[in-house]
Amino acid sequence: MIIMNKYIFEGGTILTTTYSDVWNLDIFFNGGSHSEELEKFLVETEECIIGFEAKVNAWVPNNSPADIQNLEELLCDLEQAAKKLTQAGAFIGCLLAQNTKDKKAYSLDAKVTSLGAVFQTALGALDHHLTTFNDDIWKQIMASDSLKELSFVLTESREKAKDKLSKEEEALISTLEVDGYHSWGQLYDLMVSKIKVPFVENGEEIQLSVGQAFNKFSNPDREVRAAVFKGWEHAWENQADILAKTLNHLAGFRLSVYQKRGWEDVLKEPLSINRMEKVTLETMWAVISEHKQKLVDYLERKAKLLGLEKLSWFDLDAPYGKTETKASYQEGAEFIEKNFALFGEKLADFTKHAFRDKWIEAEDRPGKAPGGFCTYLPENEQSRIFMTYSGTPSNVSTLAHELGHAFHSYAMRDVPFLNCNYAMNVAETASTFAEMIVSDAAVKNAKDEEEKLVLLDDKIQRTVALLMNIHARFLFETRFYEERKLGNVSADRINELMLTAQKEAYGDSLEEYHPLFWASKLHFFITDVPFYNFPYTFGYLFSLGIYARALEEGQGYEEKYIALLRDTASMKVEDLARKHLQVDLTQKDFWEKAVRICLDDIDEFLEMTESK
Ligand SMILES: [Zn+2]
Repeated sequence: MIIMNKYIFEGGTILTTTYSDVWNLDIFFNGGSHSEELEKFLVETEECIIGFEAKVNAWVPNNSPADIQNLEELLCDLEQAAKKLTQAGAFIGCLLAQNTKDKKAYSLDAKVTSLGAVFQTALGALDHHLTTFNDDIWKQIMASDSLKELSFVLTESREKAKDKLSKEEEALISTLEVDGYHSWGQLYDLMVSKIKVPFVENGEEIQLSVGQAFNKFSNPDREVRAAVFKGWEHAWENQADILAKTLNHLAGFRLSVYQKRGWEDVLKEPLSINRMEKVTLETMWAVISEHKQKLVDYLERKAKLLGLEKLSWFDLDAPYGKTETKASYQEGAEFIEKNFALFGEKLADFTKHAFRDKWIEAEDRPGKAPGGFCTYLPENEQSRIFMTYSGTPSNVSTLAHELGHAFHSYAMRDVPFLNCNYAMNVAETASTFAEMIVSDAAVKNAKDEEEKLVLLDDKIQRTVALLMNIHARFLFETRFYEERKLGNVSADRINELMLTAQKEAYGDSLEEYHPLFWASKLHFFITDVPFYNFPYTFGYLFSLGIYARALEEGQGYEEKYIALLRDTASMKVEDLARKHLQVDLTQKDFWEKAVRICLDDIDEFLEMTESK
């Protein structure tokens, strides 16, 4: 890891460079979506995938140690194809993000999607082959020198395939899923795109899209928030019966498949995807529930500061104060570098490298996609970060967050590709960690008390979202699925379930709730990943636990941190925590410490606002 020195010193003095806020994509494939290099690369990728598929289908395993060689060869081809596919997908994703009107990029994207589908089918067939070995032979194969390192992921694939129905039945399910399952998710997206929320602006009624309306919930003017919320609830109410039907069918399909496979617990699949035990999840929620009072204290104080008896749902994102702190891209970058350096040299050097080599697209210009991401291009062992930087403190946090993701990939760059596929609950470890370094520093460096409160409040709002809002989603979704097992659940009943979950998760502290939240939240309609909620909270607290450890151990912690990141995709989370943090995630201690960090912020906020 010596990539940086050549940049830092020149003639014995430290070089200060002005960073570009436009990324460099040409080093991957010259010429954007019309690149000939890319065209050639896609042909190679296709050949690789088709070759892999043919080999998988031609393989007849003999349930003997002699199969090791075949398996090795297949895994080698698999890695090659997966890397190429990832590389192409990431590059085209960058093209689409930087210019949403790049038509050529859309057709390239469709090409990569269809190659991905072929690849997935071949992977399914390979997993099935793995189930044909008996346990003894499998153990022998996994103990071999060449495959030892991959034994966790391979055994996991084998177990998952064994847990499913026969190859033919699973193939039939996949076919039926297109129109009977995923289609409900797509229908939801289509319906949402047509929903309009009426809103009066400058005496004139305008129609807001769902996204535009949602942004108004963080408006400092309460009347604006209340008015939007009224229109918002009404708009979802109008569609509630159709959306309830959609949710019922989507859940019904999923439950039927689970039933056929003999899976009783609806959490079985999401827990297995996130490589965690149920007791870990239960312990996490138990600790959070025990500390709800402090969060309620915060919400009550916030209400008081806003001159209210109690907060309503539409006040939860209301900003505290009106302080506007802006930092140029250069200032933001230097602030991040400086504070990363306090944690560790490698993170700081890596970050400098990313800024100088134009890994980041941050320019504020029209035609870019909304949001932000970090993507990895394995053939070059480089990442690219996308966002729109306009100078707010939250932009600086986002930038740090995405750099955290990039550092995670960098830490894993020489880990076997099959061992790099980390689950959602640990995917946010490095990003949340990096964001914490920067947001903590921002609070500490605030120019006055007012600014400090604004920044602190921003941090706490995030905690409220992760420990209360996500908790409500989890309570709702588990209960809804239990009721759905018994039959169709009406829109009114779904509203009731949501209201109960929200009251419980928010400790009964709000004036008005949002029973139609289930209709407005995409996450309940996502078909690719079930239960898209608890991994957020897990990831946040897991990362805070590591952050607490880093603060205890100081600069020397970085090596241990990197070692942890490298193992994030090749063991269960309980084992990861035991190995690298010497803690037991099924016990409360770890979670107590992590939650404590959030509560400390609240204590500070309560103290500072005591006399206001
Ligand atoms: Zn992230």
